[in-house]
Amino acid sequence: MSARILDGNALSATVRARLAERAQALAGAGVQPCLAVILVGESPASAVYVRNKVRACEAAGMRSLKFDYAADVAPAAVFERIAALNADPSVHGILVQLPLPPQFDAEAVLESISPDKDVDGFHAVNTGRLVQGRPGFVPCTPLGVMEMLKSEGVPLRGAEAVIVGRSNIVGKPMAMLLMQADATVTVCHSRTRDLAGHCRRADILVAAIGRPRFVTGDMVKPGAVVIDVGINRLPDGKLCGDVDFDAAREVASLITPVPGGVGPMTITMLLANTIESAARRLSAAP
Ligand code: NDP
Repeated sequence: MSARILDGNALSATVRARLAERAQALAGAGVQPCLAVILVGESPASAVYVRNKVRACEAAGMRSLKFDYAADVAPAAVFERIAALNADPSVHGILVQLPLPPQFDAEAVLESISPDKDVDGFHAVNTGRLVQGRPGFVPCTPLGVMEMLKSEGVPLRGAEAVIVGRSNIVGKPMAMLLMQADATVTVCHSRTRDLAGHCRRADILVAAIGRPRFVTGDMVKPGAVVIDVGINRLPDGKLCGDVDFDAAREVASLITPVPGGVGPMTITMLLANTIESAARRLSAAP
């Protein structure tokens, strides 16, 4: 069997077109969705990520604000900026690009963002809301994965879902979302015994590890849906995922490529969260 490829670029284009319409409708009602992005330092990778986010906002008819700081900036300046953005009613989403330079306590920075503007979904309040199944903001990458599964009509109720990776931004929220969708969820990590055995039981296998081609073809159950979150740069400069794509493709029924799979959906969900925040503002308006 050769798996069908779940094209994240194509799905993103469809979802972004829908989001652009919603952004336009909100702007028409007097609330143009606005995302503020803070970048500290000169990391070329971070600069590219931020540029892509800003461009995606603009392409969707949203407003974006960008604040750049030198790598040696005093943290107080960034905290002040976040406080001002928290207080600005025309700003609906605030994002601080990670990683931050060593003088910063990244957790404290993320916690200083108002949970109601935390469109990355990293604030502990939003994590708590997710665990309790209450409305909040969900981290963009696992949210994008759910959108991909939904777009393909992948049955989730009662399905065996195995996630490799337990980070706060991918693995853990992914587990919560799949559990809320009635899947039976197993989370594996670096201390898991018989990791391959767990993976082989998965109807839905999500790899979020950060190790190139870690998931081999023999770890995939025939007919499984394989979602590869990993983004790894190889010595030759090319990108690859956490799954051995060529081998897994021969066994799975549906698989995401890297690049062009989960990555584009992550930015799309950032737009979705910002638009949702603007919509909440509108409905809360007196
Ligand atoms: P983290 O490094 O925070 O977490 C990696 C997880 O993988 C940890 O839970 C770790 O286990 C587990 N792990 C590492 N080695 C092994 C191993 N040998 N066996 C089993 N488990 C292992 O990474 P992130 O969650 O932030 O990111 C994961 C990948 O996804 C990266 O490649 C990243 O670049 C990519 N990514 C992609 C995004 C996208 O938009 N597509 C967005 C965010 C991330 P333990 O907890 O025990 O250490």
